[in-house]
Amino acid sequence: MFNKFTEIAERACQGHAATADEALVVLQSSDDQLLDLVATTSKVRRQHFGNLVKINYLVNLKSGLCPEDCGYCSQRLGSETDVLKYPWLSQADAQRQAEFGLSGGASRVCLVASGRGPSNRDVGKVSNMVTSIKSSNPGVEVCACLGFLKDGQAETLKASGVDAYNHNLNTAESHYPEICSTHTFDDRVDTVTRAREAGMSPCSGLIVGMGETDEQVIEAIQGLQAIDSDSIPVNFLIPFEDTPLAGTYELSPQKSMRILCAVRLMCPDRELRIAGGREMHLRSWQPLSLHIANSLFLGDYLTVEGQTAEADLDMVVDGGFEIVGADESAVELRDRVRAHRRAHQQAFESETVPDTPPEPGDTLTLPCGKSAGSSAGSGGAVPIPSIRRRGAGTDQVPNA
Ligand code: SF4
Repeated sequence: MFNKFTEIAERACQGHAATADEALVVLQSSDDQLLDLVATTSKVRRQHFGNLVKINYLVNLKSGLCPEDCGYCSQRLGSETDVLKYPWLSQADAQRQAEFGLSGGASRVCLVASGRGPSNRDVGKVSNMVTSIKSSNPGVEVCACLGFLKDGQAETLKASGVDAYNHNLNTAESHYPEICSTHTFDDRVDTVTRAREAGMSPCSGLIVGMGETDEQVIEAIQGLQAIDSDSIPVNFLIPFEDTPLAGTYELSPQKSMRILCAVRLMCPDRELRIAGGREMHLRSWQPLSLHIANSLFLGDYLTVEGQTAEADLDMVVDGGFEIVGADESAVELRDRVRAHRRAHQQAFESETVPDTPPEPGDTLTLPCGKSAGSSAGSGGAVPIPSIRRRGAGTDQVPNA
């Protein structure tokens, strides 16, 4: 088996994707083989991305109250999950939130809004945000994630400076009717196609652990190959209370790692991002997962809190990685974040919490959020992350 992994990885290093059958062997390999699999697959990651990690930062522009019924989503139709619900952020607030992430090392900001899809007015609003963010922060990449796109909207976003458009395929076409009834897999493919044809980089990925079979994981990855996804976030199901998938715990850390390896080997030169649910499912394998993935979301997610931004940067530093687009080394950036966080703790205790993003060279301004310490991984065997109560849509400083 070891030789088989080596053979697949050597081809992937040359840019040739593993076949579906080979990826199925990877997914179904044993825990005993996992370290061999990870070591071998990490060579593919190194071949295509060296020692770089790309940091992305989510800004939830509009939260909750979606009319769609995606079974995994805390913002779905009729959801009673106690997530933050708020209308569109102002342009100034969106920019302020984005700049916290940029100060924490992000080179891409992901602007996300709940809902089936934007109106033309919404697209105009986001376009203005993007123009403003990019004019103040040269070099930043912006990804928009606004739902299904209608005629002309992708072109408008592209013209405003949007670099990428996220619309996840989520799961296999054959599994899609099990997780959603208000739209189809083909609807999702249509929007990714519109984004790509307008010149935006397609960002589309998965949510695993939703009752799909191993064959359906492979089918979903083949779907991502077919739409030519440039960046692939892999989310691990967070089974929110009051959603149809509540109580669904199908992933182990080892299985989660095998899924990442299968994606890397089938999409060897694509950005692979560890995304929502990583703390809960990868657990103590998270740092090692960066030797397979080359990208992560910093800090919190749309509706739940992640581990601290400082812990994210620790993983980057401890793995010997550097950060894409950073003017300073990962160690310097992590140490700056650490100093800011300590300063914030002191400021918070004296109730003079700073609310501006830190600049490189600052030593006293990075806030870490009131709820630091309450995030995923803080206790219990498989803790569900805390609902987000900081950052966008709150008066609390974000986790960045
Ligand atoms: S369309 Fe998006 S926000 Fe709405 S329920 Fe589905 S995943 Fe959630």
